Amino acid sequence: MKYTSTRDASVRVSASQAITQGISAEGGLFVPEQIPQMNAQMLAAWAELSYIERAKTVLALYLDDFTPQELERCVSAAYAHGKFSDSRVAPLVPLADGTSVLELWKGPTCAFKDMALQLLPQLLTVSAAKAAPGKEIIILVATSGDTGKAALEGFRDVSGTKILVFYPNEGVSPMQRLQMVTQEGGNVGVYAVQGNFDDAQTGVKAIFTNPALGEMLAKENYMFSSANSINWGRLVPQIVYYISSYCDMLKAGRIQNGDTVNYVVPTGNFGNILAAYYAREMGLPVHRLICASNANNVLTEFIQSGVYNRKRDFYTTISPSMDILISSNLERLLYHMGGCNAPQVSAWMRELAEQGSYRVTEELHKGLQALFAGGFCDDVQTKQTIAELFKTQQYLADPHTAVAFRVYAQYQENTGDTTPAVIVSTANPYKFGSSVLQALSPEAPPITDEFEQIAVLEKQTGTSCPAQLKTLRGKPVRFEELCTRGSMEQAVLQLLQ
Ligand SMILES: *Cc1c(COP(=O)(O)O)cnc(C)c1O
Repeated sequence: MKYTSTRDASVRVSASQAITQGISAEGGLFVPEQIPQMNAQMLAAWAELSYIERAKTVLALYLDDFTPQELERCVSAAYAHGKFSDSRVAPLVPLADGTSVLELWKGPTCAFKDMALQLLPQLLTVSAAKAAPGKEIIILVATSGDTGKAALEGFRDVSGTKILVFYPNEGVSPMQRLQMVTQEGGNVGVYAVQGNFDDAQTGVKAIFTNPALGEMLAKENYMFSSANSINWGRLVPQIVYYISSYCDMLKAGRIQNGDTVNYVVPTGNFGNILAAYYAREMGLPVHRLICASNANNVLTEFIQSGVYNRKRDFYTTISPSMDILISSNLERLLYHMGGCNAPQVSAWMRELAEQGSYRVTEELHKGLQALFAGGFCDDVQTKQTIAELFKTQQYLADPHTAVAFRVYAQYQENTGDTTPAVIVSTANPYKFGSSVLQALSPEAPPITDEFEQIAVLEKQTGTSCPAQLKTLRGKPVRFEELCTRGSMEQAVLQLLQ
């Protein structure tokens, strides 16, 4: 199976080339030329398998230049017990009201990014050995929080790789900062960058595109790569858990084989929900995909109007991983739903870059509305939802997951749709303990110390904080260096010595 580019129909590469390269030369994203198909018998058979077995089976359909042994090694290393605290990897939790919650945060950093970033390093090293043999890979990441830590954990001590993470000095939560500056591993580096996320991101892009630096690295047998969510190697692991959740529902007798299901996904860069779209295109019985946003509601508006318009205020919310105005992975959806029309997608992306907006065709818009529903809520509603959910169903949700619950309630009210629903849960509530605590007890005086917050939240809810967050308290800080945008290149050179 070959992969092509959303912006250039003449591109044809293997899966391992797509993963090694990350992004196509003209700026498009890699997409599979055909989407592999499955049927009810396959789903019934997969229901009997473990998560690791399901992952191997699904990935083999997309990564056909990997041998079964290579896939076995990659998947087992990524989802082994010890890395994920739950042997089911992505457990499906039934709630009293009949909905199910798909918990994607059992990995080492307690957020859903682990589902992909535990596997990406394995896929990337195998891919690079095929597509660029003998090269050592340097991963550069600019992060606003969750991605940096998940990438560090994924790549730590993976041979043949080094990873360098840049986070904005004034832009990550204290817990997120602590997670990164205490990172262990012999091949990792972490720097604070003076400025905001844009400064860090611009600096990383400048390093990627500096020809002199690139040449120097090539001489030393290094190559740059990226761990951000436009890499196919980050998207494909996410398709697995949608199929796996359907298998779990079958196995538990919550649905009959062939019944349709709705998925509700808290969305930022559109990677998670796009994986659900691929699962459906493969043949997974999905009725609607419900795209949940916070106050940054560019996607809600797009689904409603067919116009994508990034010219709007940017809001900082209590669900920061969804604070995004340009959802990069939407480009892949436009490609598939628009009849694989690369010139058309290129034109829209150019309009987005130059004018800040584009309008899709009426036909595409109709198709979009037939499958997707969109909705959003603000921080006040998010907090209300956290409190209500805990009171009525004893379920403690983080702010991102709470947005999904709220939007689903709105959707049900508007449509009366009774299709069984899966709410996708993207972070452990303790990762955002301060907001969760405020939601539960809005009247209480605020607590500033993160570890005290954890203790109070545990006591108040009878739940327990994952050890990997609790033990950050005693961990030595390894990385305290602060650099400016101009000195980021220096940091890269230092790592290589
Ligand atoms: C990254 C992230 C999201 C958004 O996922 P996308 O794939 O970018 O849409 C939602 N919730 C949490 C906790 C995240 O870390």
